[in-house]
Amino acid sequence: MTTVKNPYPLCIRDEFPMVKIGNQKQCVAEYLDKHIGKKKIVDVVQQEAIIYYIFENGYELPLLCFCCATPLVEKNLDKLRRQMRGRRLESMAIETVPASDGGNFLEFQLEFSQKGIELQGVTQAIAPEAAARMRHPKPNQGNQRLSKNKGTQHRKKRGFG
Ligand SMILES: [Zn+2]
Ligand SMILES: [Zn+2]
Repeated sequence: MTTVKNPYPLCIRDEFPMVKIGNQKQCVAEYLDKHIGKKKIVDVVQQEAIIYYIFENGYELPLLCFCCATPLVEKNLDKLRRQMRGRRLESMAIETVPASDGGNFLEFQLEFSQKGIELQGVTQAIAPEAAARMRHPKPNQGNQRLSKNKGTQHRKKRGFG
């Protein structure tokens, strides 16, 4: 019998890991689904050594290593941006994978949609802690953007005229 290393308590509903978000332990799958489920990545940025996926609704998810929760290092940010922009968070998975010491550990994975002519989706292992460190959109950000966006209003006018 092999032991499965898992430092996280598991959700009783779906067996995804639970992490402390704010003041309470929450299921990462339910938490991420609520905020960025089916949402599209619109940009990939790096800020102070941490790479973030920026979602269309303003949420920013930090990419933290699935095994040690340190920031993922990506030498070619442009390439990652090209690869990920336009994909939606479609689903999440938890998988038992072999560890370097011969045991197993639970790996949390995000599954992103295919896009354009690429038929393949992208599966990315990520630390559950990333959910706790996800940055939320600032209040009223959407409204401000809308009122400042003259381009959209112009196009709309043309459409009716
Ligand atoms: Zn759950
Ligand atoms: Zn690691």
